[in-house]
Amino acid sequence: MSEDKAADPATRLIQHGYAAPAGFAAPQVAVHKASTVIFADTAALRARDWRSKAGYTYGLHGTPTTFTLEARIASLEGGLQTLLVPSGLAAITLVNMALLGQGDEVLLPDNVYGPSRQLALHELARWGISHRLYDPLDAAALDAMIGPQTRLIWLEAAGSVTMEFPDLLGLLGVARARGITSAIDNTWGAGIAFDAFALGADIVMQALTKFPSGGGDVLMGSVTTRDEALHQRLKRCHMHMGWGVAGNDAELVLRSLPSLALRYRAHDEAARALARWLGAQPQIARVLHPAFEGSPGHAHWQACCSQAAGLFSVLFDARFSAAQVDRFVDALQLFRIGYSWAGPMSLVVPYDLAAMRQPAPYPGTLVRFSIGLEAVADLQADLAQALARLGD
Ligand SMILES: *Cc1c(COP(=O)(O)O)cnc(C)c1O
Repeated sequence: MSEDKAADPATRLIQHGYAAPAGFAAPQVAVHKASTVIFADTAALRARDWRSKAGYTYGLHGTPTTFTLEARIASLEGGLQTLLVPSGLAAITLVNMALLGQGDEVLLPDNVYGPSRQLALHELARWGISHRLYDPLDAAALDAMIGPQTRLIWLEAAGSVTMEFPDLLGLLGVARARGITSAIDNTWGAGIAFDAFALGADIVMQALTKFPSGGGDVLMGSVTTRDEALHQRLKRCHMHMGWGVAGNDAELVLRSLPSLALRYRAHDEAARALARWLGAQPQIARVLHPAFEGSPGHAHWQACCSQAAGLFSVLFDARFSAAQVDRFVDALQLFRIGYSWAGPMSLVVPYDLAAMRQPAPYPGTLVRFSIGLEAVADLQADLAQALARLGD
């Protein structure tokens, strides 16, 4: 059965169309590494087109290993074409550079991945590209913001620190009705939680660094489309910028993809159990998790998802100072302090909301947890001993 024949991405991640060399029938993909690709003669050199996957021209434009990973990410997302870049942030940059020019405007959700906002503030602005922030829970407000300069609308579900789940159907409906290209950062959903193309997105990008890698040992990004003209525009820019990924890194992601659906579910179940327990502790004022009743955008999550990433945030009661919350974080032993998520190790980061967004969306100090694959009971005991140091 080929990858196209299975409805569930969990099956498509394992059943695929890769053909091993004749006489060597292993389903695992070989690691091909090359800068130079040799042409048989000058006619072959002149006939080759770097845009065609029918042949190979130069390592930067792809090898059998990277082409296979591109095909699998496209299949995971329900898209037709994928480009690979050296990080998730580079994938965001590629979309902006390919589609925006001087005088254009891009709209970003107000809870957008921080470095995406920094890119707009410090680089896009220098090229004469402006940006504005919209409320991802208010599709009518987005509609009212669109002007003659608006060329691109970014979406992110859920916001990766404050965890609001956007009105995906409403926002994508506005983009479609107004003829504006939409791009979604699908790192949280990972191609598992919801089908971004079916909901109406034009471009789906992912930090493969997170769930598809799953090991905390690869940095990579993907940009997937269903429209050939849009893909070619992105591909031209990708070529001009000189972005490519290494065969060894592609192999690590290929090795992790078959367990993606299983890992996603395990992170989700553990995160919900720990978030529920934390929400019942007297020191915690609020739990932000899109699958929880009362979390901003919960109804929008319910409209298109049943699963969620292993990520949530808590707001400490305002009686605890930021320094006290820092002491709680420092007292954790299994949870390590560090960025990223969807790897095997549980991580924690305290965030200063006032420094991220004006006005700050919540009072008190926010702590984000990324739940790894350790035993839930051990993680809960670690949280309990660190909370006990705070007192009630
Ligand atoms: C991590 C992340 C990125 C960037 O990925 P890198 O590979 O670290 O550059 C982009 N968007 C979201 C939502 C992320 O969590």
